[in-house]
Amino acid sequence: MKVYSFSRGGIRFSDPSAPTGDSARVAFLPGISVIPLPKGGVAMAGAGDWVREGMLVARAADENGAHIHATVPGRVSHLARWKDAGGEVNEALVIRMEGSFELLGKPEVRHRWEDCAPAELRRLIEKYGIVEMEGAGRPAAAMLRETGETPGRATLVIRCVFDDPWLAADRALCRERPGAVAEGSFIAARAGGFSRIVFAVSKKETQMGMALLAEVTNGDYADALLPVSMVPVGSRYPQGLRRELELVVRLWEKQEGFSLGRLTIFGPATLAAIRDAAALHKPILERYVAVGGSAVRHPQVMRTRLGTRIGELFAECGGFVDQPVKIATGSPFLGRPVMDLDEPVTKTDYAVFALLKGAEKDTSARGACISCGECRAVCPMGFDPEELYKWTRLGGANSRAADPAAPVCHGCGCCELVCPSHLPLSALLSGRAGHAGSPGTGEGTEHG
Ligand code: SF4
Ligand code: SF4
Repeated sequence: MKVYSFSRGGIRFSDPSAPTGDSARVAFLPGISVIPLPKGGVAMAGAGDWVREGMLVARAADENGAHIHATVPGRVSHLARWKDAGGEVNEALVIRMEGSFELLGKPEVRHRWEDCAPAELRRLIEKYGIVEMEGAGRPAAAMLRETGETPGRATLVIRCVFDDPWLAADRALCRERPGAVAEGSFIAARAGGFSRIVFAVSKKETQMGMALLAEVTNGDYADALLPVSMVPVGSRYPQGLRRELELVVRLWEKQEGFSLGRLTIFGPATLAAIRDAAALHKPILERYVAVGGSAVRHPQVMRTRLGTRIGELFAECGGFVDQPVKIATGSPFLGRPVMDLDEPVTKTDYAVFALLKGAEKDTSARGACISCGECRAVCPMGFDPEELYKWTRLGGANSRAADPAAPVCHGCGCCELVCPSHLPLSALLSGRAGHAGSPGTGEGTEHG
């Protein structure tokens, strides 16, 4: 079997402090939920109000935001405000769980999405607040509308690429809910007017890919006119990032003689949520989250309600073996720092981790560049990070300022990971404000 992989740079890594993603444990229902409100949105509930599970509690300001739903039934006790690591003020409804669940534990009621026009599917996806759950949290309906309304051929690429051990939550989801991922891909394809579906699957997970294809073949929703393929891809980081994934899909396109047109990439969590919205008329209420890091006693993927406080997840994983020096969400190299354990799990938090001193890359021990060339060897874009770093530090304009069409560093973080002098190469070159610190991984930009 031919495996498609990007040719230059990249790294292989593992992280024993990340959970495996072989399975997920269902987290306890949170007694207190913290439901973040969308920026500029309109809250539909306030202190003292009763809310139902799945009820709309805040409307997005516009199509660039997503509606928010209560993930548990109960009473809103108050409005919480806190500053995140970037200094931005966040607001959330704090709900004390009480009363009965209307969806949890009840038989699923299916709705025939097959009879819906693309615009109606997009309306459902928007109504139930579905966002791109593995990346920046862009509303999925807006992404699908953009594709659906742009003339020309387009292909939906499903990213099942596990080049980063902190993607364990996606791995567990694909293993436990392949039917939802497969059906979600057909719904997204119809909503976005795609003419082909391509599952890009890490070679080491080809069995998972076969299971997804089997779901597609067996699903009575399968539209025989829509071709579906699997492309085995490499597992070297950053294979899952947009640029590297598009590169290998284009290689496959050339090899097979297809014409794929524009590519849109979605991850498995987004597709499962799209399926729940269109087939069950259900908002995003929960997600798979990888919980781990060197400070965590029992790393584990947890299937958890959104709004669960991060501290509760750590407690369910046995708590800390010692005082962590850093806590963050996302993949460790770039994750969002967590300032307070009462901060909630949000739609885009696929991992939360806590690090002990020594497991984190010690940037205070930064040295001078020794011109070892390690950073050049791993850069997938063929840059010389050493030279760029020195140039930027001296006040030199980046390449985009000089030529907007010039390729720019996409912040994968490979150079920074291997630098023996611990220089903050990736953060500076990609213009990122900083990252959460790494126990040995190298994600530097969003997946998807
Ligand atoms: S890896 Fe670090 S020390 Fe080595 S050349 Fe690059 S910047 Fe300099
Ligand atoms: S962070 Fe930028 S410079 Fe560093 S390896 Fe990745 S693409 Fe290259």
